[in-house]
Amino acid sequence: EGLIEKIKSLVHRHPDKLTVETIQAGTKDYKADITVVTYSQNWEQSGDKSKLRILLSFGQHARELISSELALRILLALGEEQFPPEMDPASLHDTLENVVIKIVPMENLNGRKIVDAGELCERRNGRGVDLNRNWAVDWGKKEKDYDPAEEYPGTAPFSEPETQIMRELAVSFNPHIWVNVHSGTDGLFMPYDHKKSTPDGLPSQRMRELLDELNVLYCSKRCLVGSGGAAVGYLAHGTATDYMYDVVRVPMAFTFEIYGDDKASGADCFKMFNPIDQTTFKVKADCLTL
Ligand SMILES: [Zn+2]
Repeated sequence: EGLIEKIKSLVHRHPDKLTVETIQAGTKDYKADITVVTYSQNWEQSGDKSKLRILLSFGQHARELISSELALRILLALGEEQFPPEMDPASLHDTLENVVIKIVPMENLNGRKIVDAGELCERRNGRGVDLNRNWAVDWGKKEKDYDPAEEYPGTAPFSEPETQIMRELAVSFNPHIWVNVHSGTDGLFMPYDHKKSTPDGLPSQRMRELLDELNVLYCSKRCLVGSGGAAVGYLAHGTATDYMYDVVRVPMAFTFEIYGDDKASGADCFKMFNPIDQTTFKVKADCLTL
């Protein structure tokens, strides 16, 4: 896979700030590899509990190619090689002084291989499981319009090695912020995906305020904002973000949908989920300033 190789060589050019590891799980029938890049300006302090910890995952759905491309753009900026136009390199460096970021550029590598082989509509993993339905919160519940070709949740919660790796990574890193980056629409979502409400209390209010701010700053107020379940218009059961919030207790847990073309025909998966011109592509790199 070209993108992962590009990312690995980028990381190796910046050993002062970036490291990379590959985590494996699975059985002899089905295995998964997940590459994780860690950013920290100061390795001696990277385990320092006072640092802000951010976990970002890209490419959970195979056909959403732009998601992993954004991961590359973000890593190019973190490596201080290439910045979005309005970004000041020095202030980025200062802002991130006390931040540790873990980035999963391609959560669903096996599914991505299927897309790269020409099945442009595939969103599930290498054996037909939707990795954003395989988590334990409200797992397996099916809506009336349930379509296994899109959202088969697996035989059990965490049946899939990709999901097992992501859970382990989240529990051990214990992030303050989680963002699951998708495409298909323009949206900034918070819990819950499996019901139409948002959680009660101050943390929930803070998430909402942050999303409203991002909507103004980067989305010209065009983004759908709110609980995934209410804002998208359908409920999703067994999602990563609901688990991160409810079980891992990540105080700020989000799903960002960074691109959508609702005028594209349903058969044109590339166009529906991925921009075809460079300018729209570039604009999306802006989420970075989060
Ligand atoms: Zn998706």
